[in-house]
Amino acid sequence: MKSINIVWHHHNVTKFDHSSQKYQKPCIIWFTGLSGSGKSTIANALESKLFGMGKHTYLLDGDNVRHGINKDLGFSDEDRIENIRRIGELSKLFIDAGIIVLSAFISPFHSDRLAARQLVESDEFIEVFVDTRLDVCEQRDPKGLYQKAREGKIAEFTGISSPYEAPTKPEIHLDTSKYDVEQSVQKIIDYLEQKGYLNA
Ligand code: ADP
Repeated sequence: MKSINIVWHHHNVTKFDHSSQKYQKPCIIWFTGLSGSGKSTIANALESKLFGMGKHTYLLDGDNVRHGINKDLGFSDEDRIENIRRIGELSKLFIDAGIIVLSAFISPFHSDRLAARQLVESDEFIEVFVDTRLDVCEQRDPKGLYQKAREGKIAEFTGISSPYEAPTKPEIHLDTSKYDVEQSVQKIIDYLEQKGYLNA
């Protein structure tokens, strides 16, 4: 920590006040999976559905964050760790504001996901494993990145030249060979409803 003489300021309006105003329990819905697995597609569809239900949400998307707050970061192990750390801290601020945050990042390393989880209360972190086989992602190749990685034009590409550590105990496991986008969204909505996130 570089800064000293910094004292945490307690605010009059609390996280509880923010979230009760919105009749929801704030959380991070943390999508993880290979590039092309369907994280952004499912997160987008889920946000539309939640928005339609009158919920206050915010979607943090990998590429968008890298255009702004994380534009100084690359794809080395060190930068990937810092990327996820900042996203975790951002999500924590949104949770304080009473918002349901959806984050769609490959987040390939178990230790980084654990670090993000540990920033918030245990019931505020919902890990969603978008489980799509590498060969299926590579065949979809929605952004043409796998082809570039195979041609050696992208270094440290997850699944090809950089590891992906699959979650061992995600709160929600989506096997996309079994569920289409709508069914995946419904599975997450069912979880949120059962656990009381949507009617607090
Ligand atoms: P990511 O955000 O994980 O990199 P994207 O959501 O950008 O992945 O791309 C996934 C692609 O796979 C999209 O073109 C999407 O329409 C397609 N797709 C096909 N089947 C599914 C499914 N069952 N779930 C999610 N996406 C799917």
